[in-house]
Amino acid sequence: TAHVIDGRKIAAALSEEVAAERDAAAARGERLGLATLSVGDDPAAAAYLRRIDRTAARLRVPHRSVTLAGSARIEEVLAAVHELNGDPSVSGILVLRPLPEHLDEAEVFAALDPVKDVEAVHPENAGLLALGTPRYVPSTAAAVYHLVDTWLAEIGEEPSAFYRRSRIVVVGRSNNVGKPAVSLAYAKQAAVTSVDEWASVGGRLGTHTRRGDVLIVAAGVPGLIRAEHVRAGAVVVDVGINVVDDGGGSRIVGDVAWDEVVGRARAITPVPGGVGPVTDVWLIRTTILAARHRTETT
Ligand code: NAD
Repeated sequence: TAHVIDGRKIAAALSEEVAAERDAAAARGERLGLATLSVGDDPAAAAYLRRIDRTAARLRVPHRSVTLAGSARIEEVLAAVHELNGDPSVSGILVLRPLPEHLDEAEVFAALDPVKDVEAVHPENAGLLALGTPRYVPSTAAAVYHLVDTWLAEIGEEPSAFYRRSRIVVVGRSNNVGKPAVSLAYAKQAAVTSVDEWASVGGRLGTHTRRGDVLIVAAGVPGLIRAEHVRAGAVVVDVGINVVDDGGGSRIVGDVAWDEVVGRARAITPVPGGVGPVTDVWLIRTTILAARHRTETT
C-alpha cells in the first residue's frame, strides 16, 4: 500500500522554519499582520477562518478578521479592502471565498494592494505566477508541492529530476487552486495535463488521470477519484475538503476514494491531515514575506 504523506508532521516542521522567519522579520523592524475579509456566513469559509486564526495565534502573527453581512453592497466591500490596504499593521490580506453571488469576485480582488495580496489573486500577481516569476505563491498550490517535495527528499529522490521525467495531472481548474498548481508544474518543467468537469462527461476522466505520475485533485467532489482513475505507483495529492453526512454526523472527506486508491498509489496525502495543515502555515509564511516586500517598496 501507499506511503501516507503526513501533512501534520510536515506542517509542524515548516512551522519551525516560519517561526524563525517571523523572528528575523521582527528583528528587522517589519510589521507583520494578517487580515482576513469575509462576507456572509458560508460554513466552509467559517471553518477555514477558524483554522487560520488558530495557526496565526500559534505562530504569533497578529490576525485581524473583518466580517461583513452577506447583504453587503460592493461599495462596502471595496471600502473594507481599501481600509485594510491602508492599515500599517496589516502586511497580508486574504479574501475568503466564496463571496455572495451578487458580488463580483474579480472586482474585489483587483482592489487589493498587490503587495498585500498573499493569495496572488490580484491580476498583477496572478500574471506574475503564470509567467513563472511569482511574487507570492498561493498557499494551497504551494502546500501541494511542499508535501511532494518533502516526501521525495525522504526517499532520497532529487525533486527537479523527478518532475522533469513526470507527467503532472491536475483535476480542477479554479483560479485559486487548479490554475496555480498548473503554473507551478510548468515551472518544474514537468509534462502537464489540466482537466475540469468536462473531462468527466462520458466517463473519459480516467483516460487523462491514468497518465499522471503525480495526480493532484482539487474538484470538490467526494470520492471522485477511484482506483481505476489512478496509474499504479502514482503520487496522489488530495486537495478536496468536503463535508459529508454519514448518518451519525458530519465528517470531512477528500476527493479521492481512500480505501481503493491507497492500495494503488505509491504515496498519497490523507484528508484531513494532508494539504490543509500545510496550507495554513504557508499563508502565515507569505504574510511574513509580504512585510518584507512592503518595506522594500516604501
Ligand atoms: P472550485 O469549485 O472553485 O473549482 C472546482 C474545479 O473542479 C472546477 O474547475 C471544476 O470544473 C472541476 N470539477 C468539478 N467536478 C469535476 C469532475 N467531476 N471532474 C473533473 N473536474 C471537476 O473549487 P476550489 O476552490 O478549486 O476547491 C476544490 C476543492 O479543494 C474543494 O473541495 C475545496 O474545499 C478544497 N480546497 C482545499 C484547500 C486546502 O487548503 N486543502 C484550499 C482550497 C480549496
